[in-house]
Amino acid sequence: MAFTIRLCPFCGGAITSEESGYYLCEECGKRSYRSRIYSKVFLQGKPYEAQYSSIIDLLDVNPDKALAQINEVVESVEEPDTDMLYTRATVYTALGEEGKALIDWKKGLEAMSDFRNIDAYILSVCRNIMDTIILKEREFLDFSPLEYIDNIATEFSLKTEVPCRGLFYLTLYRDFRTAYQSGKLDKDEDVYDTTIVRILPKILAYGRDYRMVIDAIDEMLEDFHYNPDTYIDDDNLVMHLCYLLKGQYEALSENFSDEHIIRIFRHWNDENMFELEYYVDELLKSVRDPSILQKIGGLLGRENVNLAEAVEAYARKFLMIADDGTDLSKEA
Ligand SMILES: [Zn+2]
Repeated sequence: MAFTIRLCPFCGGAITSEESGYYLCEECGKRSYRSRIYSKVFLQGKPYEAQYSSIIDLLDVNPDKALAQINEVVESVEEPDTDMLYTRATVYTALGEEGKALIDWKKGLEAMSDFRNIDAYILSVCRNIMDTIILKEREFLDFSPLEYIDNIATEFSLKTEVPCRGLFYLTLYRDFRTAYQSGKLDKDEDVYDTTIVRILPKILAYGRDYRMVIDAIDEMLEDFHYNPDTYIDDDNLVMHLCYLLKGQYEALSENFSDEHIIRIFRHWNDENMFELEYYVDELLKSVRDPSILQKIGGLLGRENVNLAEAVEAYARKFLMIADDGTDLSKEA
């Protein structure tokens, strides 16, 4: 399943049409991969591609041997490079050693000096995070995916100086949905629903291109069998909130120029989106406790709001469009 990428997900620049599986940004030169499920794409075309790939492939049959082989590679040099460490992180993930994987990702990021292909590493990390979530569920082990993802996404953002958090969550979402659709999660009944609901607030708050958020909501409404007539009886309140938000995004952005869309994208970064995360969390809580709506309404400058009005106020804040239609993105 592919991503519909309309802007460079890193800088908001124009992207060239798809070439050998990825888009190229005309401004920052970064690649973005169309398919989000590649876990080994960072090795593509490298002299050691076959060797490291075969180590990763070995995980299915003999993970201990895979670890011995990659350790031999890592220990053969004084300063292991990014690709050695990202390969070893994949091995650690398969062994249930997500803490060690995190350390290797961070070290590998430190060793990186050219960021044009960071998307390939983000793909690898996200795929590993999905595997960890599934593994922990199967073994009934405690794991806090959001903390873990925020931790590595923050490192990427700091090192590369571009907001990456939304891309991590959207990629993880895409990984899960692809696995779900292909039947890979058939034995893990609840893991898809549980994970999507967990990462949903992050997707809503940190998705800088609201059109990608709309696409994701569309899919979730389908996967969670949302029906606008029966959502209360179906206890589908969270999806109803998503449905309202999508409707507001679509209506309010109907006449947006491309420039306006890019200004919105560039205005939001991981720091100021932290505020959006607060609003999204409160909105999500308000579906079960409507008394929270007055607090949200007050903070967004509205009185006596219902859920639909609070969602509209939030959508305007994100889209940077005032009640009278003024385009606030020009001043930001
Ligand atoms: Zn770019």
